[in-house]
Amino acid sequence: MTMRANYTGVGKDTIVMYVDMNSYFASCEQQRHPHLRGKPVGVVAYDSPNAAVIAASGEAKKFGIKTGMRLTDCRLLCPHIIAVPTHPTWYRQVHVDVIAILRSYCDDVVVKSIDEAAANFTSYRLVYKDIPEVARQIKADIRRKYDYLTCSIGIAPNSFLAKLGTELQKPDGLIVITPENIDSYLATLQLTDLPGIADRSERRLQLIGIRSPLQMRHSSPALLRKAFGGVVGEYWYRRLNFGEVDLYSTDSTKMMSATRSLSRPQRENRQAMESMLIALATRLEQRMVKANVFCKYVSFYIRNHDHTNWDTAIKLADPVQDAMELCSYIRQHVTAFEQSRGIPTLFTQQVRSMGVTVGSFVDGKVLQYSLFDNRLKKDLLRKTMYNIKDKYGKNTVRKGSELFIPDIMKDAIGFGSVKDMLVEGGVIKNKYLLEEDE
Ligand SMILES: [Mg+2]
Repeated sequence: MTMRANYTGVGKDTIVMYVDMNSYFASCEQQRHPHLRGKPVGVVAYDSPNAAVIAASGEAKKFGIKTGMRLTDCRLLCPHIIAVPTHPTWYRQVHVDVIAILRSYCDDVVVKSIDEAAANFTSYRLVYKDIPEVARQIKADIRRKYDYLTCSIGIAPNSFLAKLGTELQKPDGLIVITPENIDSYLATLQLTDLPGIADRSERRLQLIGIRSPLQMRHSSPALLRKAFGGVVGEYWYRRLNFGEVDLYSTDSTKMMSATRSLSRPQRENRQAMESMLIALATRLEQRMVKANVFCKYVSFYIRNHDHTNWDTAIKLADPVQDAMELCSYIRQHVTAFEQSRGIPTLFTQQVRSMGVTVGSFVDGKVLQYSLFDNRLKKDLLRKTMYNIKDKYGKNTVRKGSELFIPDIMKDAIGFGSVKDMLVEGGVIKNKYLLEEDE
């Protein structure tokens, strides 16, 4: 399986509907516990004054409470805020029902996160005469199932502008952005109101004289390339001018790669090459932990002495961060190819270099409380390990896959498979498992 092209090149007649559930986790709590409705609610991962609020209800937001604030700080702004622990299984169940409603109208639905999805209605333009009416029906269907849940819906010729539409009216919004009205919407916005433009990009744009989204849309691809230092700038031009960049993938400009050339002794030893694959994946795992992201895409290539290549691209069903897990996906593809061609191994003496790339990142903040809570424990553990490394030095802790010696590699345990390690509130209870094994 290969990932779909990042820039699909769809034209101005495309119709994308973006659905963003309002104050999702907090509303889900209010849905299930009616006594919380109409009240300022802060959803927390664990019960402690130091806990950060990971979602605030609409009522709490009115007091200035934002995602990421500590409960103690929230109480200064809103003394009667009600802290509620997360219930990921419940949020996931609601998510599945909301997506099913969307899919009952359109079979091309791309889930963007636990509370966001984009639906490509382009091939339905003859089926539905009135797409905003479909949006209203979707809202009504959701309300019929969960009477307290609302969503903001944006409709536009591409997924970026459709998402922007959801930002313009909250809660329960419905905004249609067209080539005719886009400028009047953009005129009301600051650069940092655009999803994906943070302070740093804002500064870079200002340096070349672009101070507003409207100016940004009417500049040139070349100028935006200059501001963003490359193709990313061109993507921004397309987003604001009805090109499609984001529908089927997350930002492909955000990829991480690790590559290595092989020395002669390495290429004569298959085991050493396998170990190198693990080393490359481990390097990417470290970078993903640091950035707090998980990947839904991984590719692997082998470059041979005679300039032939072998590569594979894999779209992952679940977001992955663990190096051993990445390697097992790659190995499955390598083995399948070897067997289909009757080749004993791709790791021959011909191999000169190899590389692993990961992308289609999912934010760990979203992930940990969303679809994949069964991973929560081990991902927290991995993060904790890297934090200890940062604090006390690289060699304090070490996982099996960081050892490159082939004989040891065979017995190495991926960190993710240390299941019975106890972690509570980020504190490791069973410390000896992390001790240096040299
Ligand atoms: Mg939302």
